[in-house]
Amino acid sequence: MKAAVCREFRAPLRFEDVALSAPEANSILVRVAACAICHSDLIYIDGGWGGELPAVFGHEASGIVERIGPEVIGFAPGDRVVITMLRSCGECPCCVAGLRGSCEADFPLARRSPLTDPAGTPIGQGMKTATFAERAVVHPSQLVKIGDSVPFDVASLLACGVITGYGAVVNTARMPPGADVAVIGTGGVGVNSVQAAAIEGARRIIAVDVSDEKLAAAEQFGATHRVRAGETLGQTVRAITGGRGVDYVFVTAGAKAAIDGCLELLAPGGTAVLVGIPASGVLSSYDPGTLASASQRILGSKMGASDIRVDIPRLIELYRAKTLKLDDLITGSFAFEDINAALDTARRGQGLRNVVTFGDRAA
Ligand SMILES: [Zn+2]
Ligand SMILES: [Zn+2]
Repeated sequence: MKAAVCREFRAPLRFEDVALSAPEANSILVRVAACAICHSDLIYIDGGWGGELPAVFGHEASGIVERIGPEVIGFAPGDRVVITMLRSCGECPCCVAGLRGSCEADFPLARRSPLTDPAGTPIGQGMKTATFAERAVVHPSQLVKIGDSVPFDVASLLACGVITGYGAVVNTARMPPGADVAVIGTGGVGVNSVQAAAIEGARRIIAVDVSDEKLAAAEQFGATHRVRAGETLGQTVRAITGGRGVDYVFVTAGAKAAIDGCLELLAPGGTAVLVGIPASGVLSSYDPGTLASASQRILGSKMGASDIRVDIPRLIELYRAKTLKLDDLITGSFAFEDINAALDTARRGQGLRNVVTFGDRAA
């Protein structure tokens, strides 16, 4: 099968014929239909998290189950699925505590990549998924069935960007109705924090970004105020909130905002949520005295602290009820052959989500 292989950081992906091993016990072979470009793909491809090459990245995908390995229950060939990087055992202390994204179990797929080049040399399965390829072999816990009501390109967004932004508000922050909120960085992830805050009944939702295009998008997704990021951000947010500051600040990984900058926006008792994971080596500083005396909190949120079996069906229901916007998140569509153009578009910060589709499988 064809895969877009990363052999060198900061270089275009190369189309290669690679071998994908048949699904072994507790694994499933999925034919990929659509894969969105996520900021995390760019961080990996550009070397921001290191790691071994060659590898195939791509982790925000949808497709059709083609073959199931032994011992798989609950899936059958032909099932339409969302494909995620969240591989979980359901039994370790993290899974039991509801933190499936931090599962500590050991999986055979983690020890031996299902991908090899024609000479038999292993190719890494980036982010446990590797869906910049025509097919992928994953653990059943990484899949959620979606039925027939969601197009593949829209469904792919549920695998990462949507659950990350939405889950930060609903699962991590457990934001109550009536809260004042700022979202720093309103691209393909942050805009989902904006719409989650709106759905959950936030009072003021202040979108902060350097891009007028992204600020305009945030308003479509429910932001009540827009502020261009800059030195007077703290003053501007305080002016909007009558001097008090906001109850929640959601900072996306792409926003490059330091914690000290976002704590300045917080009201007493307020919470800063780190939505997503910046490149290695990014450090922040804050004044612990101020944090403690104002009873403020900083929360990390990996993949929206999602349980995909619960959250993805719920998001599909909200989408079908026209409460959750997904179609409008797709601002660029590319054929698989043009994946490097899709990556460059995302790298330039253009649009919300750029989606790659395979053959005629977008619908
Ligand atoms: Zn992602
Ligand atoms: Zn686990």
